[in-house]
Amino acid sequence: MGAPAGQTRYNSGLLNFILVDDSLMSQSRKRLVMGNWKMHGSLQANAALLQGLVAGATRVAAVDLAVCAPFPYLAQLQALLGGSTISWGGQDVSVHGQGAYTGEVSAAMLKDFGCSWVLCGHSERRAMHGESSDLVAAKAAGALALGLTPVVCVGETLEDRDTGNAECVIGDQLDPVLALGTESLSKLVVAYEPVWAIGTGRTATPDQAQAVHAFIRAALGRHGAGQTRILYGGSVKPANAAALFGQPDIDGALVGGASLVADEFLNIAAA
Ligand code: PEP
Repeated sequence: MGAPAGQTRYNSGLLNFILVDDSLMSQSRKRLVMGNWKMHGSLQANAALLQGLVAGATRVAAVDLAVCAPFPYLAQLQALLGGSTISWGGQDVSVHGQGAYTGEVSAAMLKDFGCSWVLCGHSERRAMHGESSDLVAAKAAGALALGLTPVVCVGETLEDRDTGNAECVIGDQLDPVLALGTESLSKLVVAYEPVWAIGTGRTATPDQAQAVHAFIRAALGRHGAGQTRILYGGSVKPANAAALFGQPDIDGALVGGASLVADEFLNIAAA
């Protein structure tokens, strides 16, 4: 009997083994397009945006769609997205389970509001709140333990890139996450977001993004998680999304500004 597409079957006498073609495996990673509203929104504006997303989601049924909103609006997401194909999540999570941590929100609280996802280590949290890569990995581990899918964000500054240190910086950010092991790595999502492309209107070229995604994929692969989804983030718009999604190691996008307009977000997903 022939092997399924993407697999080559070998019979060496003692052993039967199957080689899996990685380029074909990439087709099995479902595209994920996730909005990061950051600190934007109001009950009224969100309602219109969410209604637009729900109404348009059927035209991108082949894509996983998700929205990460400020904590106070998670109940609204639960009410308006519940029963739809769009999932939702928080933009950060405490590394602690509960206790005297004023202002913090736990993974269990996110679960209470139906969250599936949580961003960990967005560059704005690393830069403005001093989050270390160890803390980010600990947050990801805590989220996984409660059944949330962490989206671990990594990315270099312009100075890192200009001095040829991009891979070194991203490698350092990834190391404590890689140490979580194959099972955890297979359940999480990584988002590559070059800091110089976030909210600047300046996107990495598809080749620049692909090069870093391939670097991240290789690192994940060495830890047995080569099929983990890797999103690109940084000024993704409908006009540049198709070229980015055409790259073999780009599995979707984390979208900031353009996620605040339903049509833009859906057109990115459909690109
Ligand atoms: C982000 O906030 O993660 C992001 C990528 O923002 P933007 O799309 O606005 O650059």
